[in-house]
Amino acid sequence: MRHFPVFVNVDGRRVVVSGAGETAIAKLRLLLKTRARISVFGADPEPLVRQWAEEGRITLTERPVETGDALCARLFYAANDDAAEDARAAAIGHAAGALVNIVDNLDNSQFITPAIVDRDPVTVAIGTEGAAPVLARKIKADLEERLPASLGVLARIGQAFRVRADMLGDAKKRRAFWTKFYFGAGDRALKAGGEDAVRKTLETLLTDGIETRHGPGFVTFVGAGPGDPELLTLKARNALHEADVVLHDKLVPQPVIELARREAIVVETGKKGFGDAWKQDDINALMIDHANKGAHVVRLKSGDPAVFGRLEEELDALDRAGVGFQIVPGITSASAAAASIGRSLTRRGRNASLRIITGHDAEGFADHDWRALARPGEAAAIYMGIKAASFLRGRLLMHGADAETPVTVVENASRTDQRVVAATLGTLPERLRQAGITGPAILLYGIAPRGAAAAVADIADMHHEAESV
Ligand code: SAH
Repeated sequence: MRHFPVFVNVDGRRVVVSGAGETAIAKLRLLLKTRARISVFGADPEPLVRQWAEEGRITLTERPVETGDALCARLFYAANDDAAEDARAAAIGHAAGALVNIVDNLDNSQFITPAIVDRDPVTVAIGTEGAAPVLARKIKADLEERLPASLGVLARIGQAFRVRADMLGDAKKRRAFWTKFYFGAGDRALKAGGEDAVRKTLETLLTDGIETRHGPGFVTFVGAGPGDPELLTLKARNALHEADVVLHDKLVPQPVIELARREAIVVETGKKGFGDAWKQDDINALMIDHANKGAHVVRLKSGDPAVFGRLEEELDALDRAGVGFQIVPGITSASAAAASIGRSLTRRGRNASLRIITGHDAEGFADHDWRALARPGEAAAIYMGIKAASFLRGRLLMHGADAETPVTVVENASRTDQRVVAATLGTLPERLRQAGITGPAILLYGIAPRGAAAAVADIADMHHEAESV
């Protein structure tokens, strides 16, 4: 970082601009957002500069800047569009002790002006050290879109209310109060009734906040996706950001858990003490207990919570306890597995349907309609199928499936340690043994990797290479 970003206080201070043409106008537009005293020097000013002078927003001297013109200036802009004149002007700025910027001359400037997103008092400054102005503009445009226009007004009104909000005492209540204000209630009130309505809303939220002994806690079920943190939805990220408590499955990887708010209580519900498994009732009880204390609980499940995630059992428990919830779907591991082998989960002429099945259920190896699955053109994404591989093969062959039916195994789909094993129904258990699959894996039954015949060999080779490094 060659330039260190700071916000300079120019309230009532002098800022001098040498130049009164288009280049100067671009800087003046930004400077006019401040309460600096702006002096402009230029022999042949643009009409707009004259107009600003007439309106009293700047002082204009219609001649080039001279020694002594920059006294007490905090910032000095040389914006003459003329290298020699800029150098002469900059020397005057330096002599007066001001910080000097020469427009479009990074090397000879003491500071640079960032691209600005203005929601005063919230200001976002974007700089690329002059490396990529296009990028800065794009980021600015994105942020302009993302930050509601009302943000500045809300922040200003909110700022004046901070002392009152301290009445709420504990930090969690305060956070809940401000979150409601900035992300919903404040904006709605402003649109409906202007600034007065915003102030009334603050009062109402404050009364609500003081009166509720425990804010109404609730549970957000969040799909954590197959493992790559970039495969989280924006909603998932936001929920993790706001959570008071995060209860996560064992399969959710650390980089995803790390996105939780720093103060959040994080509990892994996969194992307990000396390797004992958590019972579903314990998880339900913990979730309800935290929610009843007013916490926002995030129940983080791998993939999509609605696929082999015991989601409805937990929803039923919440219903019985009168705790509210919402569900944020996630990318299920079958989708990630298909993506990793360049295949879609359905394809015209190959498989018009896809079964989502489990190799294992509460009773042991799961039973399915084997006869139907054994028919040509059937496809299935088999979860929890590794231990059941021999059983699956036996049942399917017994019901007439072709031993050459492709079965692709994707272990740790979407993670850095992802592995693909291309097998057939006949060779499945043996290939699994050879590969030594230990991580979570999906079996894609009836779907071979793209470019199958060649790829089968390639992938086998790749796999051996990967193991030898
Ligand atoms: N709700 C999850 C599934 C949970 S059941 C989802 O939608 O993906 C657990 C099973 O999911 C594992 O046994 C394995 O079959 C599969 N699984 C989870 N994460 C996986 C990953 N990254 N790669 C491959 N399979 C995965």
